[in-house]
Formats: sequence, C-alpha cells, structure tokens
Amino acid sequence: MAGEPQSDCLFCKIVAGEVPATIVRETETTVAFRDINPQAPTHVLVIPRVHYPDAASLAVGAPTVAADLLREAGEVAAQEKTDAGGYRIVLNTGAGAGQTVFHVHAHVLGGRGLNWPPG
Ligand code: 5GP
Ligand code: ZN
Repeated sequence: MAGEPQSDCLFCKIVAGEVPATIVRETETTVAFRDINPQAPTHVLVIPRVHYPDAASLAVGAPTVAADLLREAGEVAAQEKTDAGGYRIVLNTGAGAGQTVFHVHAHVLGGRGLNWPPG
C-alpha cells in the first residue's frame, strides 16, 4: 500500500533505526540526517517516515507530509546556520537525474557557494 515501509529500502531502514545515521532533526513525520558522502559543508537529507519513491508521489499521496518535508528542510538550514548565506533543496527524481535511493529525500546543501545551473 502507498506509504507502507518497504523491506528492501535503505531509508525505511534508517527510519526504523535498523541502519545507523547521524540524525540532526526528527519530527512525527520526518527524519533529517547527514549524507554519508557530503557534497558541501552542510549536506543533510530530509525524508518522510512514510515510503514514497519521489517528491511528486509524496505530494499526491500525503500532501501534508510533503509540506512537512519542505518546512523541515528550512529548519535544517536554520539549525545549520546556512539560511543567511543561502542554501539549496534538491529533489532528484529518476535515475537519469541522479536518484539512487527510491525513497523521497530532500538534499539540503549549504555552507559554500552553489553554482547555477547544477550539473
Ligand atoms: P540521490 O542520489 O538518490 O539523490 O541521493 C542519495 C543520497 O543518499 C546520496 O547523496 C548518498 O550519498 C546518500 N546515501 C546513500 N547511502 C547512505 C547511507 O547509508 N547513509 C547516509 N547517511 N546517506 C546515504
Ligand atoms: Zn523507504
């Protein structure tokens, strides 16, 4: 069923505490943790506790949680003090766009200059 935990999903395992992660914030609906391979001084992933493969399917299936995800991305940026210098929220969607984990996650990147357009 949409939103149910998937036994083969790495990020469902992080939500369940079965795979360790450096958690920086948690809410009833979201978990934020440091990316294992950081691309910037701040590189945090914000995920919903529910399993949806990408941002658009989360917005369709659980719109309030999609809003929670964006709010939490902002809270992470504030907590990491990247909000003043600007930060980027990235939601890679599909393998061709670089998505490798198919449990929606917002990358929060900051703490350095960020080029536009991204590669
Ligand atoms: P994507 O490429 O799907 O947009 O992003 C997946 C992100 O998950 C990558 O930036 C990758 O470094 C990160 N990642 C992959 N495996 C793990 C893990 O086991 N723990 C953590 N904290 N991050 C992971
Ligand atoms: Zn999952």
